Amino acid sequence: MADPAECTIKVMCRFRPLNSSEVTRGDRYIPKFQGEENVIIGGKPYMFDRVFQSNTTQEQVYNACAQKIVKDVLEGYNGTIFAYGQTSSGKTHTMEVSYFEIYLDKIRDLLDVSKTNLSVHEDKNRVPYVKGCTERFVCSPEEVMDTIDEGKSNRHVAVTNMNEHSSRSHSIFLINVKQENTQTEQKLSGKLYLVDLAGSEKVSKTGAEGAVLDEAKNINKSLSSLGNVISALAEGTAYIPYRDSKMTRILQDSLGGNCRTTIVICCSPSSYNECETKSTLMFGQRAK
Ligand code: ADP
Ligand code: MG
Repeated sequence: MADPAECTIKVMCRFRPLNSSEVTRGDRYIPKFQGEENVIIGGKPYMFDRVFQSNTTQEQVYNACAQKIVKDVLEGYNGTIFAYGQTSSGKTHTMEVSYFEIYLDKIRDLLDVSKTNLSVHEDKNRVPYVKGCTERFVCSPEEVMDTIDEGKSNRHVAVTNMNEHSSRSHSIFLINVKQENTQTEQKLSGKLYLVDLAGSEKVSKTGAEGAVLDEAKNINKSLSSLGNVISALAEGTAYIPYRDSKMTRILQDSLGGNCRTTIVICCSPSSYNECETKSTLMFGQRAK
């Protein structure tokens, strides 16, 4: 059933426009685009499956990043779409959706806030799942959007001195698609994870201390576990370190194998963020 040539991890890169505070500060617009697959930062080219310039519309991004995965999920495959990048780089904007979250390695149910520390179990086929997580039965796109809004209002945010209420947790939205053909009784199921990752910025830049520092270390650790899993998959290594973090464990059956994975690397175009942008681009390159 699976076409091995298709079992790749796709990495897309999106630059947002300069925002008003970057313009006010007089930041330079640093990316130089070359064709649809290359971006040059500080003289160095970075190549991706696709690079989106700042004026790219949501629809163009959806068509290139999500359309194919969504179609495959409806045909019974599993898939994951990640948004990676520093705070304010456009991750949430790109996902349009934002459920449970992983905060300080604790899984919190975003549809039932009384469930604050859910655990990961394995079913009889050894597929990991989050035990006791709220499931909603939805029949229409409106119901999906309502569910997302409910989860969004429960997300965990803490203020850092980046002048933003930055998202300091990973949010994971799972869409389970179960279909049954009433005539043939044939059943088909696929799942799609939408993962809006916590900001990837370095601790020093945010000047974090105490609890916020613990938080930042935890985020860096789980992002590097994710990077390790993805680069092991890209290299075709036999051992994939899924068990190193809760997130990679949960996503195990939707990452690698014959699953569809797309990573959208989100970047600020500003000269002020050049270091973070380079580190974001390097994360994306590891997956190729
Ligand atoms: P993140 O989730 O990475 O922290 P957001 O998605 O919240 O960042 O984006 C930060 C701000 O920038 C938001 O106000 C968002 O609307 C705006 N923004 C992000 N990407 C774009 C884009 N491609 N075009 C226009 N505005 C954008
Ligand atoms: Mg966000």
